[in-house]
Amino acid sequence: MFEKEIDKLLERELRLYTDLFDRYDVAPLKGIVEKEIRNKGFRLFFPGNLEHLFQEYYFLKTINRIRIMLIFGIIVYLSFGYADYVLFPEMYKDLWTIRLFMLFILLPTLIYVFISKNYRMTYWVYCFMALMAGVSIVGMMFVLPPTEAQIYYAGLFLIIFFLYTLSGLPFLFSSIDSWAIALIYFLIDISFLHSPEKYLAANMFFISSANILGMIGGYILEYYVRKDFLLSLKVYMDKKELEELNERLRHLSNHDELTGLANRRRLKEVFQKELKRAIRERIPLTVLMIDIDYFKAYNDKYGHIKGDFALKEVGRIIGRHARRPADIVSRWGGEEFVVVLSNVNGEQAYQVAQAIHKDVLERNIEHRSSPFKKLTVSIGGFSEIPDNVRTIDDFISKADKALYRAKETGRNRVVVYNGKL
Ligand code: GH3
Ligand code: MG
Ligand code: MG
Repeated sequence: MFEKEIDKLLERELRLYTDLFDRYDVAPLKGIVEKEIRNKGFRLFFPGNLEHLFQEYYFLKTINRIRIMLIFGIIVYLSFGYADYVLFPEMYKDLWTIRLFMLFILLPTLIYVFISKNYRMTYWVYCFMALMAGVSIVGMMFVLPPTEAQIYYAGLFLIIFFLYTLSGLPFLFSSIDSWAIALIYFLIDISFLHSPEKYLAANMFFISSANILGMIGGYILEYYVRKDFLLSLKVYMDKKELEELNERLRHLSNHDELTGLANRRRLKEVFQKELKRAIRERIPLTVLMIDIDYFKAYNDKYGHIKGDFALKEVGRIIGRHARRPADIVSRWGGEEFVVVLSNVNGEQAYQVAQAIHKDVLERNIEHRSSPFKKLTVSIGGFSEIPDNVRTIDDFISKADKALYRAKETGRNRVVVYNGKL
């Protein structure tokens, strides 16, 4: 039970990234990914496109956390309104005004973070919100009596802490934003607050230290996310490679290498299915057996290379006549081809065979050792609405008989036999 849930979780994770990786052309990144996996040193960015992909991955991975934490942060921010009330009963209304005003101007940005799919913009908007929260805290320090203002200064730390850890923002964004908050505090203090120098110096010292520590922590967090990313990508790539290899293997085991047509194995597979269907639906099934005439002589005269080329050409021509999805053309072996046509009766079979025969003739492949002076084929066909006792071998041997008949009576012709129709 428990394991099933883990599987489900893993699958969901993988599907998330698989969709992303599928959209990207990740194959060219293989070398870089492997190099980055081995690279143990300090690393802020991945090279080129990999960084771009990582950013999208990061967004997918963290966006939900980013959104939830944002709500959480806002709730914490507002709940400090209670502290306003307890600490400064005589002026909590001013403080509440600042808090609510902030909430009001942040509402549209909040909505943006919840609907946006543009990660960079989302991060910036998020940063802007945190920055405004910082500004509002400095604003509250401003309305409070100077001696009390320092109490609220600690709020800046909470924001910085939030940015580096809970927010889910990338390291770079939380760093920029946190330093910006420190800077804004500094500027507002020297321009308006005029905290005593000792306080200002201590405050700046602590806020800078918090930033440096935060950056170290933030970097380490992101380092592991980056590592995760590289490993996920590697797993994905290996899986893809395996799938492609399997696909190639399947193709190889079903097709003839020279002509690219189905091989005998594949033909039998399809044939079996079509035979069953024909029996079930009482529709005719046709087998054409096609053999190149005087092909041994062709090889002897022109050599095997040219022979192979001629075979490919004939295969291609025959292939063009398999028009329906259930039709199948195969290289049966040597210079023989077998075509299976579903729901084709003897008359139609004869027409298809004639068309193939004519196409080969018109291709005009020179064959000086043949009495016809060009490459020709003989075609034997058999058509029938099969019943339960019929087998593939029956069909093949009947078509073979027709082919023998075509050869016997002079080659370069079509003979089609009809079974029960
Ligand atoms: P027929 O008119 O009676 O069919 O005579 P044929 O010479 O075509 O028939 P035969 O069966 O005597 O010879 C078939 C020849 O096909 C033998 C072989 O040289 C050639 N052949 C079979 N497979 C290949 C192949 O893959 N490549 C090439 N180049 N030739 C092949
Ligand atoms: Mg032959
Ligand atoms: Mg032949």
